[in-house]
Amino acid sequence: MQLRTSSVDATRALAAALAELVRGGDLLVLAGDLGAGKTAFTQGLGAALGVEGPITSPTFTLARQYDGTRLRLHHLDVYRFDATAEVLDVGLAELLDDDRAVTVIEWGDAILPALPRNLLEVRFTLGEGDDDRDIVLRPIGDSWAARRRALATALDPWS
Ligand code: ADP
Ligand code: MG
Repeated sequence: MQLRTSSVDATRALAAALAELVRGGDLLVLAGDLGAGKTAFTQGLGAALGVEGPITSPTFTLARQYDGTRLRLHHLDVYRFDATAEVLDVGLAELLDDDRAVTVIEWGDAILPALPRNLLEVRFTLGEGDDDRDIVLRPIGDSWAARRRALATALDPWS
């Protein structure tokens, strides 16, 4: 599924619309270069889950946890880490077992083999203008495949 935004606010709004379809135990993998919008997307998602206060890039801390009014948010960034070993250290299995939380992993595409086969990959690439981003959603596994149609409807404004 192919989407496009033309501002950081639009990317946050898109993530908030997607948040409506997210359930406890879900995993989102965010792919794309530095500055592509992965953290901005996570901020929009978190705000829509009822997280109060700023969501900051966890690049140097690997993982942060936020309490939302609807769901918790586990926010990981595996850039520059010996990803597989580090992710096992933070207990990824336990995070994903938390059915009151959604887990978001920036640069998670680098560790796909270490991840469960049920996830939504969100890939960001820079578009033509400075603030344009092309965003491609790739559902992997039954749980997200079953939500394809709902995703298309919810995210139609950015298609
Ligand atoms: P990443 O986490 O992928 O490294 P960030 O979300 O931290 O990226 O940064 C994205 C940067 O790009 C921010 O400075 C943001 O303001 C800017 N930006 C401009 N246009 C967009 C857009 N359409 N979507 C997301 N970010 C955008
Ligand atoms: Mg980031």
